[in-house]
Amino acid sequence: MKLSSRVEALAESATLAVTAKAAQLKSEGVDVVSFGAGEPDFDTPQHIKLAAIRAIEAGQTKYSKPATGIAAVKQAVCEKLARENELQYKPSQVIVTAGGKMACNLAIQALIDPGDEVIIPVPYWVSYPEMVKLAGGVPVFLEGDENDSFKFSPAALEAAITPKTRLLIFNSPSNPGGFTYHPAETQAIAEVTARHDMVVLADEIYDRLRFDGQAFQSFASSSSKAYEQTLTLIGASKTYSMTGWRAGYVAGPVPIIKAMAKLQSQSTSGACTFVQHGLIEALTGDQSEVERMRVEFEKRGAHIHQRLNALPGISCNKPTGAFYVFPNVSGTYSKLSVAGSIEFAKAVLEKAHVAVVPGIAFGSDACVRFSFACSMEQIDKGLDRLAEFLR
Ligand code: GLU
Repeated sequence: MKLSSRVEALAESATLAVTAKAAQLKSEGVDVVSFGAGEPDFDTPQHIKLAAIRAIEAGQTKYSKPATGIAAVKQAVCEKLARENELQYKPSQVIVTAGGKMACNLAIQALIDPGDEVIIPVPYWVSYPEMVKLAGGVPVFLEGDENDSFKFSPAALEAAITPKTRLLIFNSPSNPGGFTYHPAETQAIAEVTARHDMVVLADEIYDRLRFDGQAFQSFASSSSKAYEQTLTLIGASKTYSMTGWRAGYVAGPVPIIKAMAKLQSQSTSGACTFVQHGLIEALTGDQSEVERMRVEFEKRGAHIHQRLNALPGISCNKPTGAFYVFPNVSGTYSKLSVAGSIEFAKAVLEKAHVAVVPGIAFGSDACVRFSFACSMEQIDKGLDRLAEFLR
């Protein structure tokens, strides 16, 4: 069967593949501890579920009109961005999508022509390079500094920009790095992009999941130029534990939002209508569950960081946001006789029944990713097994 060369060249999502493998082993009766997908273990807050149920019962089961999102949800997004991100947008600058991943894909498809360069800081979320390649673009990898929690410097960014640069993907708090750029760092990076004719896709889906008082500033709020050249991408999946609902949104310059809308009208026809009603409730309703979950992630992050650093051959930065740690495990490779992160992940899954995602999928073969969106009990169980395995 002949498949398109675009799809032949596409890698499967490693995060979803590891999660599926762990789920399959569990269904076969193997007691796997999964640090795979970045999917909160909490239930979606009840008031959000009820809002969607009420919407279904009220007949909100037809196409989203318009396909870019119903008026009330765009208004709720604008209010959220003004309230929490110091960003003033109008509803005409907003598009609601079937998840943050779709938002990212639409933005890249709307902006990138074959040969255009897209700067992707390393470590990166698995799907960015593949989406860029699908659009015919060229990923340009910008190495983060492991000694600075994997952040990249403004000077390194400046050096990576060429006349072909079209886009920077800026993700903070970071998946998989677990780090968050300080506002001063974000501003320094925005000063670089302001000097160039380029767009910034600011993936801020973890904007509310920050730890130990970590300060944060939305990229677009750094300066008026940053506002003009940035697409701000957020969604409900992580903050409200709504991964399966597929509720994402983007705000930014009207011409780009219109281009994304055109693509959306020819692909998904928009986000599910009653999900949008759930999203309105998520954004405008009681926020106490968000804080409860955030506090729990903070505790888990501190705990997994401390436990990983106590293991021989492993060094780990303390997470300041999102729910990932990205330890360097290369100090174990010779003892385990593994060649890199894929073999490491395979060995711990097969021998210790612990699922982690190989760092190579995020651009760093010395590391693996642990998602701590699982219970403290699971974290301890998984780390006990890993400790035993590494003894
Ligand atoms: N974004 C989450 C992760 O990185 C969910 C899976 C995915 O879409 O990659 O694990």
